[in-house]
Amino acid sequence: MARNCETMNLKFNKKDVKLSTLAIIGGGLMGRSLIYHLAKEKKHFEKIVLFSSDKITIPCTLNSTAMVALRGVTKGHSELGDLLVEGHEIFSHHVMMDHPQGVQVVKQFTGTHHERESFLSRYPEASLSDRFFHEKIYLSEERAFMIDPKTYIDWLLSESLNFYQDSLHMIDDMVVEAQEESEGVVIKTLNNKKMNFHKVIFAGGSYNRFWTPMAPYSKLKTSKPVQGSYLEFQNVPWEHSSFSLTVDEKNLIWNEPLKRLFIGSTSSETSHYLPQKKELRGIYDELYLKLNLKLPSFDEGEIKVGLREKAQKRAPYMVEEGRSLFVGGLYKNAFTLSLKLSGTLSLKHL
Ligand SMILES: Cc1cc2nc3c(=O)[nH]c(=O)nc-3n(C[C@H](O)[C@H](O)[C@H](O)COP(=O)(O)OP(=O)(O)OC[C@H]3O[C@@H](n4cnc5c(N)ncnc54)[C@H](O)[C@@H]3O)c2cc1C
Repeated sequence: MARNCETMNLKFNKKDVKLSTLAIIGGGLMGRSLIYHLAKEKKHFEKIVLFSSDKITIPCTLNSTAMVALRGVTKGHSELGDLLVEGHEIFSHHVMMDHPQGVQVVKQFTGTHHERESFLSRYPEASLSDRFFHEKIYLSEERAFMIDPKTYIDWLLSESLNFYQDSLHMIDDMVVEAQEESEGVVIKTLNNKKMNFHKVIFAGGSYNRFWTPMAPYSKLKTSKPVQGSYLEFQNVPWEHSSFSLTVDEKNLIWNEPLKRLFIGSTSSETSHYLPQKKELRGIYDELYLKLNLKLPSFDEGEIKVGLREKAQKRAPYMVEEGRSLFVGGLYKNAFTLSLKLSGTLSLKHL
């Protein structure tokens, strides 16, 4: 069986596989970005099925603070950095040309009270400001994108349906078996559906780890879930326009049209959904003390939890095994990487 894996530079051998039926397991950002990209490229299939089981395998995408900002990353220092910059360019172009729903152009402010030297080498244009704070701190300002993930991924799907129409099917059922046979891959679901496909793509986020071939079968050595949690406040009566602020790695995101405020987020290498409430309280208290903004009380916030997928070196991966392809490891840069990966996957494999 042919095995092929790249985790960084995403180079592949083109396979001579004639495709007419395709299964994508994963209805989060990755799976839907891929379908959207295929539709944009007008790639025809007899049938595409998008499997998701969002009540059991909860999508991280819907529990994400969902910002796109370069945050001082530039090209020429690391393969991942290059990938992030390219992904950022692709996403910016996508926003400009396709006008996706659920995306706002905003300002990202990044500041610190400590480590001034390393901060200034990353953000050389930062200057002293007390815009959000009781005291002056070094603050940088950049163009960024704020995303309402549900609106955006629903838009990706509706655009894809416009092109694929009757050939695109969504099945809300959990895939429990994928068996490669001579003519294709036989998929079985929790509700006893059995279907055959020429090719299957696993885009299941942190749940991919139950399927993805690891070393020694591929170059991929690790892929693990990393829990993230944040506070979401609704109906906040602020008059400011939308902005995102990161200070000493703590985030405050204000979405003006939705009147929603997000504060977070935590990061912990666990695979469960029990939130890091104590840490969230610490983040909230620190921001409460430092900011000259009137925050709603901690208890008014709803705690949201998502499981991100972190692969080795925080880099995304694509692994190919026979007629199955595994794509993921979007970790904290999902919106920057998903269209970039979709382009590579479509070009080399579909
Ligand atoms: C707190 C937090 C903040 C974040 N902030 C940002 C940010 O600011 N910017 C950014 O770019 N990224 C951010 N991320 C990361 C980003 O949200 C994730 O990396 C991204 O959403 C992952 O998308 P995905 O499609 O790979 O996986 P998911 O969204 O998890 O989707 C997986 C899909 O696969 C389906 N599935 C899985 N297994 C099966 C199966 N066996 N059968 C059927 N269906 C299956 C699930 O039902 C689901 O639909 C954040 C994450 C968290 C938790």
